[in-house]
Amino acid sequence: MWTVDLNDEIVAVWPLAGFDKTLHYRAASGLAERISEGSLVRVPVGRRFTLGVVVGKGVEADIDFTRLKMVSQVCYDQPILTSKLLALAEWMRTYYGAKRESVLETMIPGPIRQGMSAKREKYVSAGATPSGEELEALARRAPKQRALYDFVKQQRAPQKKSLILNRLKLSAATYNALLEKGFIEEESRVQERVAYEDEMGAVEFAAEEAFELNEEQSVVTRSIAADLETGGFSARLLQGVTGSGKTEVYLRAMETVLEKGQGVLFLVPEVALTPQTVGRIRSRLSKYADIQTVVWHSHLSDGERLDAWIALASGAARVVVGARSAVFTPIPNLGLVVVDEEHEPAFKQDETPRYHGRDVAVYRAFLEGALCVLGSATPSLESYRNVALGKYALDRLTQRVDDRSLPMMHVVDMRAEIARSRKSIQLSTLLVEKLRDRFEKKEQSILFINRRGFSSCMLCQDCGHVEMCDHCSVPMTYHRSDETLKCHLCGAETAAPMRCPSCKSPKVRRKGMGTQRIEDAVTRVMPNAKVVRIDADTMSRKHLFRQILGEFRSGKIDVLVGTQMIAKGLDFPNVTLVGMVDADLSLHIPDFRANERTFQLLVQVSGRAGRGDLAGEVVVQTFTPHADPIQFARRGEVDAFLELEAESRERFGYPPYRHLIRQVFRGPNADKVVFFADQFAKRVAERLEGRVETRGPAPCSIEKMKDHYRFQIWYFVGSVAPVMADLVAIAAEINWPQDVIQVLDADPMSLS
Ligand code: ADP
Ligand code: ZN
Ligand code: ZN
Repeated sequence: MWTVDLNDEIVAVWPLAGFDKTLHYRAASGLAERISEGSLVRVPVGRRFTLGVVVGKGVEADIDFTRLKMVSQVCYDQPILTSKLLALAEWMRTYYGAKRESVLETMIPGPIRQGMSAKREKYVSAGATPSGEELEALARRAPKQRALYDFVKQQRAPQKKSLILNRLKLSAATYNALLEKGFIEEESRVQERVAYEDEMGAVEFAAEEAFELNEEQSVVTRSIAADLETGGFSARLLQGVTGSGKTEVYLRAMETVLEKGQGVLFLVPEVALTPQTVGRIRSRLSKYADIQTVVWHSHLSDGERLDAWIALASGAARVVVGARSAVFTPIPNLGLVVVDEEHEPAFKQDETPRYHGRDVAVYRAFLEGALCVLGSATPSLESYRNVALGKYALDRLTQRVDDRSLPMMHVVDMRAEIARSRKSIQLSTLLVEKLRDRFEKKEQSILFINRRGFSSCMLCQDCGHVEMCDHCSVPMTYHRSDETLKCHLCGAETAAPMRCPSCKSPKVRRKGMGTQRIEDAVTRVMPNAKVVRIDADTMSRKHLFRQILGEFRSGKIDVLVGTQMIAKGLDFPNVTLVGMVDADLSLHIPDFRANERTFQLLVQVSGRAGRGDLAGEVVVQTFTPHADPIQFARRGEVDAFLELEAESRERFGYPPYRHLIRQVFRGPNADKVVFFADQFAKRVAERLEGRVETRGPAPCSIEKMKDHYRFQIWYFVGSVAPVMADLVAIAAEINWPQDVIQVLDADPMSLS
């Protein structure tokens, strides 16, 4: 029995080890000094070592001090999570019904979790060459040192010390002995990293000057300043038409908070698509020489991610601009949280934990006692409801800056258009006319395709057969470049048939329109115009994307064709025409948010027109010209639309009037999946009687995906967490076979 040092301390740890328990360890007095709440430590669990996060420190009476295992390592000098983030993790666990480990893995970036070193790495190379006798002596008396020497000698370049020792399973003692003899040498190197530079760095932004605020901006800025003066948590919805200067309002609030010595979290739906917002924030904050801004996005290398995290944790950086996962960055003393384009579904993560970045941001602001500003031209029904309930204050910007007018929207009835020309066409007469007009005036146009919905499937004109994927219950998409049909869910691919596979008719038509067809159609009517298309392929090559945007800005491109992906945040002053080629596709998806999405899309897209001194126009092509979202968008009546939509949601008891928890069951054997879904539903009926309204089990709208049959149950609830707890408990009681998978999703955004 060894003696216990009374200066040792007990720490409570959440291990990243696949179970949701808190374990206790003893930290030797030397280590204990470096440990605080939120520290990342290495601890023994069973026979393995695992990483864990310290959640408490200090002796607890009922724990037998002497029987505890020891903390073996403290990974970083600073805590990697703040106490507020630990509380946030607990909230996410209960609200989204996720395992604590998966929450922590989502919160803590990979390189940190892997205990990647923020410090220098030691590199080893061969040193003085030993004589023959010395080599023999080594082999006899210290075979391990000899093995180490031989290995190092063989390497062409210096190798990482940690890797060598691991690989040869050698101790530091062996290594040090050989090092003392001088037969190996070490040098310490800093991993090469470019500090927070990224693709945005290459885009040029004019130095941003603060404007004189207009009347509306001043009013909003004053209310925000009053909130910041009072301090503590509050949330505000900033509803401002596109181009009304919301970003300027955010910037003012940021300045106030930074001058108080606090930090800022700024969330955008996707960083790569909002280079201009990022650029404006950076250039505005560049006047504070001592305030670093971290841009947090998916293209960061491990090293950059680690550096950024440590810079924030240590207080060296105080501002983060980033997508969804930036909501977890460790900003001490957080004063302001901004969520721009708060209505965007991209804030929701579609894998476990299925959290909504906006909702987590609001909850984080609450925990931090910070101000949260949600901004949008077309607020989500959820936020609109929170205003009605008095949870959020509402700020409005109703005018575009400098009295620029909102673009005029023309709605073209494509049914009439087709009746007139007696064939299916992509571009209406009006759109072609306006495109030509802009080209002549050397102004620019953007054409948007609605990506939601299935746009280009293969349809037989004789028997109506639509070519479907063998593995998924969705139509295959036609790709002209290589004459193939591809499934966008599972990637399956076949050659496009010349005849209908069902009735052998040669009249197989490609229905709908992809970006490629639109590009061709524009080129046909304006052979001299430079037309460029941005699609998923372009988006994945960021240099190409940046290059195209650059060329568009400089006027080398006349018409840009793309999906609504590119509608976010882009601000090109010379764009005076925007066309929405197939506005109603998103109306026909089986989702209670279909109207809301279509409306948001139209408003967002038309916001791209007339951003400069020239007035803009929008042409919307549709087969349902009288649909509410289209008519309200045409008239720019955001509030009226929200009210109408809210009424219908309330009538059906849909969100935001109740919360929805969606559960999907899937597996290769449909009967088995249904059996387990039924079992689940039965238990829910017993245990949760009267507390939920259940729909299903029923097939999902995509019944089959990647050879898995999919069924769903919807639970409508007043409050998520208590019901989620029961659902998780029921799921844990069931003995699931390997081939039936069950997933719970609180506040789902995708219902397919
Ligand atoms: P939003 O985010 O609401 O779409 P922005 O913040 O992007 O609007 O503002 C639109 C344009 O107006 C930007 O180019 C911005 O620099 C400019 N702007 C913002 N506020 C003012 C102001 N008070 N005076 C002049 N220009 C402004
Ligand atoms: Zn056919
Ligand atoms: Zn498929």
